[in-house]
Amino acid sequence: VANQRNGGIAWTDCTWNPLRGCSKVSSGCQHCYAEMMAARFSGPGMPFEGVIENGHWNGKIRVAEEKLDDPLRWKKPRRVFVNSVSDLFHSAVPLDMIDRIWATMLLGHKHQYQVLTKRPAEMCRYLSDTGLYARVLDAANRIRVDRPNLMGISISDPTKFPVKWIHLLTSCENQATADERIPDLLACPAAVRGVSLEPLLGPIDLSRYMKRGAACECDPKLPPSERCNSPNTPPSRRMLRCRAAMRTLDWVIVGCESGRNRRACEIGWIHSIVRQCREYGVPVFVKQLEVNCKVTSDINAFPEWARVRMFPGDQY
Ligand code: SF4
Ligand SMILES: [Zn+2]
Repeated sequence: VANQRNGGIAWTDCTWNPLRGCSKVSSGCQHCYAEMMAARFSGPGMPFEGVIENGHWNGKIRVAEEKLDDPLRWKKPRRVFVNSVSDLFHSAVPLDMIDRIWATMLLGHKHQYQVLTKRPAEMCRYLSDTGLYARVLDAANRIRVDRPNLMGISISDPTKFPVKWIHLLTSCENQATADERIPDLLACPAAVRGVSLEPLLGPIDLSRYMKRGAACECDPKLPPSERCNSPNTPPSRRMLRCRAAMRTLDWVIVGCESGRNRRACEIGWIHSIVRQCREYGVPVFVKQLEVNCKVTSDINAFPEWARVRMFPGDQY
C-alpha cells in the first residue's frame, strides 16, 4: 500500500537520499523515475539544481549534507531504500561519501538497509578493498564525535564480516543485464543478496543464480592462499568469481514498468519468475503488474498466483 514515506514502493518503509543525480546505464534506465522527478525540481535553489541539463541527468552528483545522518535520527526500526534518486556506486560519488554512508549504516543497526545499484561491479570492488575497514572506522569515529550514544557500537570489517542488516541488491531488466550484474552481486560479501527485476523488459532465466549446491572450482593444485575460501585479502577476481558461483540469490523483486511511456511486460515473464523462485525456494516480491491494460500495485487485483510478497528469510 502506497504511503508518503516509501514513495509508493511496497517493498520498503522509506527512502534515504543523501545523494542526488545519476547517469543512465542500460535500457532499464530509459524512463528513470528519479530523473523525471529531478527535472521538475532542478531550478535555482531546488533540491536537484546542478544535476539536470535539458531535462536529463548530467552525470553530476550532489550531496544532500542535511540528510546524511537521517537514519541515526529515526527512532523506530525501518526498512530503508538507500539512494532511490541516485546510485551509490556511480563513478561521480566521492569515495569518502560512500564510506560515510556505509559507516552510517553500520552504526544505525536498528534499521535494515536496501542498497540497490545498477553498478554491482563497482560495489564488489568497493567491498573487496583492503583499505575499506580503516576508512569506515575513521568515518564512524567522525560521526560519533557529535553522537556519543554511538560510542559503544562496534564496527565490523565489511570485507570479512558483512552485517545482516545491510542487504545488497542489483537491478536487472532482461537476461543480458542479469548475466552481467548478478555474478558481480553474488561476488560481494553480504548477508543478503537480492535482485530487483523492475522494469522487467524480457524473460529471464534465473535458475543458475538460485540453484544450490555448486562446488568450488578452484584448481586443487593451487596453494591454499589462492583458493576462493582463503580469508586472505585482497581476493583476486578469479577467487571472487568462484565464491560467487557457489552462492545463490536470497530475494527477488519483480514488476512491470509504469508511467505513460511504459514498455510491454508479458504476464508470462512475471509468472515464470514467480515459478522459478518457488521451485528454488527463493522469496519473491511481486510489486506491480498489468491487469486489464492498467498497471496496478494493489495485490488484491493480482491473479492468485501473483499474490506473493515475501521478504528475505521468508519460507514458502
Ligand atoms: S541507475 Fe537508477 S537512478 Fe540511475 S539513471 Fe538508472 S534508473 Fe535512474
Ligand atoms: Zn573456489
